[in-house]
Amino acid sequence: MSAHDLIVIGAGPGGYVAALRAAQLGRNVACVEREPALGGTCLRIGCIPSKALLESSERYVAARAELAEHGVRCAGVELDLAALLARKDKIVGGLTKGIEALFKKNKVTRYTGHGRLAGPGRVTVTAADGRVTELGAPHIILATGSRSAELKGVELDGDRIGTSTEALAYKKVPEHLVVIGAGYIGLELGSVWRRLGAKVTVLEFLPRILPGMDDEIADEALKLLGRQGLEFQLGCRVTAARVKGRKCTVECEGVAPIECDRVLLAVGRVPCTDDLGLETVGLTLDERGRIPVDAHFATAAAGVYAIGDVIRGPMLAHKAEEEGVACVERIFTGYGHVNYDTIPGVCYTEPEIASVGRTEEQLKSEGRAYRKGVFQFRGNGRARALGHVDGRVKILADAQTDRILGVHIIGPRAGDLIAEAAVAMEFGASSEDLARCTHAHPTLAECLKEAALAVDGRALHA
Ligand code: NAD
Repeated sequence: MSAHDLIVIGAGPGGYVAALRAAQLGRNVACVEREPALGGTCLRIGCIPSKALLESSERYVAARAELAEHGVRCAGVELDLAALLARKDKIVGGLTKGIEALFKKNKVTRYTGHGRLAGPGRVTVTAADGRVTELGAPHIILATGSRSAELKGVELDGDRIGTSTEALAYKKVPEHLVVIGAGYIGLELGSVWRRLGAKVTVLEFLPRILPGMDDEIADEALKLLGRQGLEFQLGCRVTAARVKGRKCTVECEGVAPIECDRVLLAVGRVPCTDDLGLETVGLTLDERGRIPVDAHFATAAAGVYAIGDVIRGPMLAHKAEEEGVACVERIFTGYGHVNYDTIPGVCYTEPEIASVGRTEEQLKSEGRAYRKGVFQFRGNGRARALGHVDGRVKILADAQTDRILGVHIIGPRAGDLIAEAAVAMEFGASSEDLARCTHAHPTLAECLKEAALAVDGRALHA
């Protein structure tokens, strides 16, 4: 049996970062991953490849329809889908190799195979050829992530009816793509294929898109994405989808069946806890299939911890990373902390949509008195120069103390801009603090300053 100080099962953003942090702290760390490539869903078949496709498809749209306005004429713009997909694969390949290099540099021992608890302090790794390796450590972190949720009646065939994994690699632009679910995945990948020329219909069960996002921002997103040609059917519950030859049929309550050539199922994700050997240490799952943990990521079994998508909280790569670091620091140094009030969420559509903290609806339902400042990107010089003027920044601050409670942005580079809001909130800033900070001119970040000024009714360029 190979002995280590810590065994991490899963090498996604939560697991590999936890392994690196423990190695930095001088510990002998093992990381078990069954996929040949490190990086987990985020890197292999999630965040990174989707961002590559979003970027390329945005360039395609710009070359076809937007550059002329800048005086740049592009005649005969053509799509080379194979090259676009190859670029994405190269980016993913480079980054997964990068994690391998980080493991080597930090002396993290990697085991390839299915990791499974085998009693207190013990893990077995079963390789693809069936060979079993036994590992032992006083601390074990479960970071096995999540997989796409299935929907009763939707017959996934791994080709025409698939999940985000298939939608990241269609070899041909679909004629008509039906997306089930208007969450992050549905909107991002729906945008990619719409830009590349597909007719895209998004079917959403709720009467709105982007559940959990601030209503006002989600309403604007619906309007702007609709303008790009995405068709939405809201309040529409999908009950079945099946392949018939080269066509698919999607059935939903109250609407005639829809015929299309591809279906993307994006109705959420579920934790990966199958065959983890939880019973060998007496662990059971909660009602949503997650591993219960305390505030410090400890499970009910001594020496076993869990982080990321397998536990409570939003399924976001950066949340998993923070938990990985905090969990390891808690184990080996006695302290470690994640502030769940300042975890940003970003949907990388065009424009991007980003938020941190409380939504206006949450504040209302909590009965909390707040003031609100809104600034439109069209009042910003840099946004005009960029030619991306749609969207707004909205800041919500406590009515008495002026402390910032939530920031919601739809607009150019919202995903980058939200970092300032997250930092401000982490430091307990008031909207007045933000308003009094010098922001370089001309930058998009000035919209945050203006929205902060607007909380007090004194935006200068509104
Ligand atoms: P989601 O939970 O964000 O959205 C799923 C949507 O499907 C919901 O709006 C839901 O109402 C709808 N739905 C459910 N059942 C339906 C039915 N029968 N018919 C029609 N609609 C139905 O899920 P997702 O987009 O699949 O994303 C999964 C997870 O991955 C999320 O937790 C998300 O945070 C994460 N993710 C994040 C990013 C990012 O940060 N940019 C990107 C992709 C995924």
